Amino acid sequence: MSPDFDIIVIGGGGAGLVSAIAAAQSGKSVLLLEKTPDIGGHTVNTQGMFPASYTRFQKALGIKDSPEKMTADILNENGNSVPYDVVNNLSLNSRHVAEWLVDFCGQELGVATDFKYHGYSNYRIHSPPGRTGKELITTLLEKAESMGNIEIIREHGVSKLIHNGRGQVSGLEISGSGENITTGATIITTGGYGANRDFVEKYMPDASKMMYFGSSEHRGDSIIWGEALGAELDYLDSYQAHSAVSSAGTLITWETVMKGALIVNSLGERFANEITGYSRFAKSITNQPDSIAYEIYNREIHEEMLQRYPEYRETHLLGGIKSFHDITELASFIGCKPGNLSSTIYIANSYKDNMKTDKFGRNFFVPIEAPYYAAKIIPALFHTQGGLRVGKDARVILKGGSSCRNVFAAGDAAAGISGPGSDGYVSGTGLLCALTYGWLAGKNSSALK
Ligand SMILES: Cc1cc2nc3c(=O)[nH]c(=O)nc-3n(C[C@H](O)[C@H](O)[C@H](O)COP(=O)(O)OP(=O)(O)OC[C@H]3O[C@@H](n4cnc5c(N)ncnc54)[C@H](O)[C@@H]3O)c2cc1C
Repeated sequence: MSPDFDIIVIGGGGAGLVSAIAAAQSGKSVLLLEKTPDIGGHTVNTQGMFPASYTRFQKALGIKDSPEKMTADILNENGNSVPYDVVNNLSLNSRHVAEWLVDFCGQELGVATDFKYHGYSNYRIHSPPGRTGKELITTLLEKAESMGNIEIIREHGVSKLIHNGRGQVSGLEISGSGENITTGATIITTGGYGANRDFVEKYMPDASKMMYFGSSEHRGDSIIWGEALGAELDYLDSYQAHSAVSSAGTLITWETVMKGALIVNSLGERFANEITGYSRFAKSITNQPDSIAYEIYNREIHEEMLQRYPEYRETHLLGGIKSFHDITELASFIGCKPGNLSSTIYIANSYKDNMKTDKFGRNFFVPIEAPYYAAKIIPALFHTQGGLRVGKDARVILKGGSSCRNVFAAGDAAAGISGPGSDGYVSGTGLLCALTYGWLAGKNSSALK
């Protein structure tokens, strides 16, 4: 008897929508099940920024890049803790995904050339023009709805995979109803496990001290199902943190730092090299008094961020960014001695003048002068990076090394490429795993006989 659907995608975020569209492209019947009333998952709240190499968009700007360079950059950041082939598979396919998003899905994409994220040797961050995940989700949802062979059902979570004990899934159980739906192939895109306190405490005790700023729906269903399937689970201690959640509860883009902001503790002192990734830096903040810090920058950076980033404008409107005429005012905001702060800023400015590297290893400084702009920042756990091990085709791998016949995974449900802990996260690789594994899972599931 033929199944109810050729392919069922579980989860309606970025990875889920891309999987569904790529699977339906060959004419197969696809069902996408989303447990909440909304499509978009946490992807809708991102900046929509992801790396891709050797794209025609880069070439049009004269940027010479290659998948091998992208792989080398990522491996350099994660300390070679992830197999070369795993990272290179994503680098090689990133071009196809970026071009497919434009050509097949109708998503406008540009390459960010105004800054390079830490760890990237080239301009390769691609994003929608407004740098929001909302643009991406709007385009993908419209595309999925226009295709005719994708059924999307909201408020239908999956509670269980029905399988034969050897990695073959024949159906899914819908939460609460006891209803079963049969399927030819299953793509798991249910996100990570940041909202599952037990998992966070068990796998990443460091992160359990931070506020959680990710999706409340990332409850680790993929881990529970993976264990039941006998799947390999990789890097369960891996996560992406961020250093700069504002006191207004919004995110301050890390570009403020990449453009030259300083970060001081409540004593008015710098304590680490800010020009490292925001994930790595977060742990340094947790070691400071009260686990908080302050970003300080100049008007030029403030104006540029206001112009470029909607979420920065929101933070400003909500009072998360303050301006100060002089060091005494700024020190009073931070609650430190003006002399301490004045000397911190004086020393940083002198490194700029002499183009030297400071004791923390930072070698890029811009003048920090009045009027000063500052924001209180709090480190947070953003999303988990461990998950189901997948092969080159995004198929879930079982303990012992064989692949599931008809189960795929993408996005935060799949193991990421940051390696253990939080230090190896490279910006944009959350969406890289969502979009690229999603595209591979869709394409390869639809090729199953
Ligand atoms: C503030 C913030 C900003 C970020 N910005 C970026 C960025 O610019 N670039 C980047 O690369 N990464 C970014 N990330 C990381 C990024 O959000 C994730 O890596 C990415 O969104 C994961 O996509 P996904 O499809 O796996 O998850 P999601 O988009 O969250 O989708 C998962 C979906 O599955 C649904 N679901 C869960 N369980 C079930 C179930 N049992 N049945 C049915 N449905 C279920 C959920 O409701 C959700 O809709 C950011 C993270 C945060 C917190």
